[in-house]
Amino acid sequence: MAKEIANTTSFLEYAPAPESTSILHLKKSYGLFIDGEFVDGHGQSFSTISPATEKKIAEIASANTADVDTAVSAARRALDKTWSKMSGADRGKYLFRIARLVQERARELAVAESLDNGKPIKESRDVDVPLVAAWFFYYAGWADKLDYAGLGANPRSLGVAAQVIPWNFPLLMLAWKIAPALAAGNTVVLKPAETTPLSALLFAEILQQADLPPGVVNIVTGAGETGAALVRHPDVDKVAFTGSTGVGREIAKAIAGTGKKVTLELGGKAANIVFDDAPIDQAVEGIVNGIFFNQGHVCCAGSRLLVQENIHEEVVDRLKQRLSTLRLGDPLDKNTDIGAINSREQLERIRTLSDIGEAEGADRWTAPCVIPENGFWFAPTIFDNVETSSTIAREEIFGPVLSVLTFRTPAEAIAKANNTPYGLSAGIWSDKGSKILAVADKLRAGVIWANTFNRFDPASPFGGYKESGYGREGGRHGLAAYLKSAATQGAKK
Ligand code: NAD
Repeated sequence: MAKEIANTTSFLEYAPAPESTSILHLKKSYGLFIDGEFVDGHGQSFSTISPATEKKIAEIASANTADVDTAVSAARRALDKTWSKMSGADRGKYLFRIARLVQERARELAVAESLDNGKPIKESRDVDVPLVAAWFFYYAGWADKLDYAGLGANPRSLGVAAQVIPWNFPLLMLAWKIAPALAAGNTVVLKPAETTPLSALLFAEILQQADLPPGVVNIVTGAGETGAALVRHPDVDKVAFTGSTGVGREIAKAIAGTGKKVTLELGGKAANIVFDDAPIDQAVEGIVNGIFFNQGHVCCAGSRLLVQENIHEEVVDRLKQRLSTLRLGDPLDKNTDIGAINSREQLERIRTLSDIGEAEGADRWTAPCVIPENGFWFAPTIFDNVETSSTIAREEIFGPVLSVLTFRTPAEAIAKANNTPYGLSAGIWSDKGSKILAVADKLRAGVIWANTFNRFDPASPFGGYKESGYGREGGRHGLAAYLKSAATQGAKK
């Protein structure tokens, strides 16, 4: 009998189905994208590698302070000479064109993203890249309708926007930043994260294809110093940052009192609350999607599972069964569920925090996975019986690690969910709409999902409270972050 089961298991094994990289025509090295052209950088260039194999993909230029200055000047010239003089309808045409080109080159972009970031191809292909196109389509539609953005008649752009993004959704975060900025009539200098610059550089090629006027979007690659030089530049009117709370705090300090407008999208430690009347099968899928999607490298990940005490055992058992079926490995394989951790540094952070979780007394369980020899990997992990005061219940791990806590009453669930310095997102699972609404009303989180998790739509605002940052991206609210309202138009910047 045992033999039969073993045979059945191997019969059900998936054969490898790797996506081909032949669609990519990568250059050996990439320069900075300034004033519509690729130019040399004057900082120390660096390699971008595949986190799944540790093999080099390309050499990337680094922008020093002088290069940042050149990029900001190009954005200022483009703002004054072209972009601010163009009608909203014409700006919209460029955005529609970019959206269509993203769709045309979708497969190539998905492969590049998975190669550089380590995320499974099924996620970059079915989530990231379609959302990138959706974001450009959505804001293209707004470009000639700014009078209806709720900011009074004829709202004006802020000017030159400095945008700094993280590595977890490289192209999607770029779209969240660039699409509303351009629709609102701003020009842009964007800095992608140093471990994932590739898709932004392919996007620069798309801008050339779309004939976007030179200087409207500039892309400067480099590490934290490049980002710091960019956000502090005196000719920048608006700073938009997505990344860690620590760096967000540094940026807020650096630009305080300068008159620059700022939005900060920072970390999170979301509660995913499961009540005993929830549809358990769906909830288990939602918990998995909430924390193991994109290897848990998601600011709004449901990293704290709050499960009602009487169903705790059942939910944790089913979760373990489900996690045992996930396939970890080659991000370019279409069957892969869990890809590579983006960098060695991030892997170290996940390991350190997990070790702390164990030392503090939580019960650690790891999904049975074969870990590839090269690259950066971390098997899906659950910590059960986690105390509210435990480090892994409070700190963002930003990896495939779930902390499980229990509650008895809705009031206790709300108190535990809100017991965090963050306030980005939350999930509620229940059969009762009235319970969902009553609980949602009391949760201090910018985004709350009900009987689902990690769903994104360009029409819906996204952002946090407390240490998760301030400002909203997406929807009409996302436009407001790039416009002067009628009331402030007379004021300086
Ligand atoms: P990070 O803060 O280390 O880096 C983010 C970006 O900032 C990178 O491009 C980096 O080069 C740049 N940077 C670093 N130091 C800088 C400085 N002093 N001045 C200006 N720029 C600087 O974050 P990360 O590790 O890349 O990303 C993970 C973090 O991002 C997590 O905390 C996650 O929660 C957060 N995040 C938030 C959202 C959101 O929408 N709230 C979305 C995605 C990621």
